[in-house]
Amino acid sequence: MISTHLDENITILAWPLKAGSQPCPFSRTSRRRPVLSGEGVTLHVVLNDADRTTPSGSWASSAGRRRNMQAIRNRDTAPEWLIRRLLHARGLRYRVCARPLPELRRTADLVFRPAKVAVFIDGCYWHGCPEHYKTPRINTQYWSNKVARNIARDRDTDQRLAEAGWLVLRFWEHEKPEKCVHEIANAVSSRRNRFK
Ligand SMILES: [Zn+2]
Repeated sequence: MISTHLDENITILAWPLKAGSQPCPFSRTSRRRPVLSGEGVTLHVVLNDADRTTPSGSWASSAGRRRNMQAIRNRDTAPEWLIRRLLHARGLRYRVCARPLPELRRTADLVFRPAKVAVFIDGCYWHGCPEHYKTPRINTQYWSNKVARNIARDRDTDQRLAEAGWLVLRFWEHEKPEKCVHEIANAVSSRRNRFK
């Protein structure tokens, strides 16, 4: 699978169709049809659909805007999906979207409980990626506050988990999945035996 992250909304996934190769796993796990299949490749353009909440009366209530914000907001983003797939292929098992500490209402994207490793794949927009976050021109204050609150909450989560003996790994969704997987796998294998 080759993925190209065009911007925070659009990812292109390409899957080679060689003789004897498996069909594109993305076609199986999602209802999204490939935009192209044949010519030796399956191509998906992924507009991350999703989370349906819109602040009432905000500029995001226009349909186009809303679609944009929802796209950025998606939980189950293509980068996260790729990371999960690569980890799974390495034989690593984890909880998706789970609380590392049951009593703490914070959810990590991937939880490796025996190793006490919590992985967060932060969306460039909602978590204020220094490379990709741009303050919107409309309703600037609303969105700036919202992103600032998310960042503060992230740091608080990091601290609480660390205090409870967890290793927190955070990646931006723009980072190369292979690189993230490498780091996650190393951390999990070096900590796995520690808590037995
Ligand atoms: Zn970014």
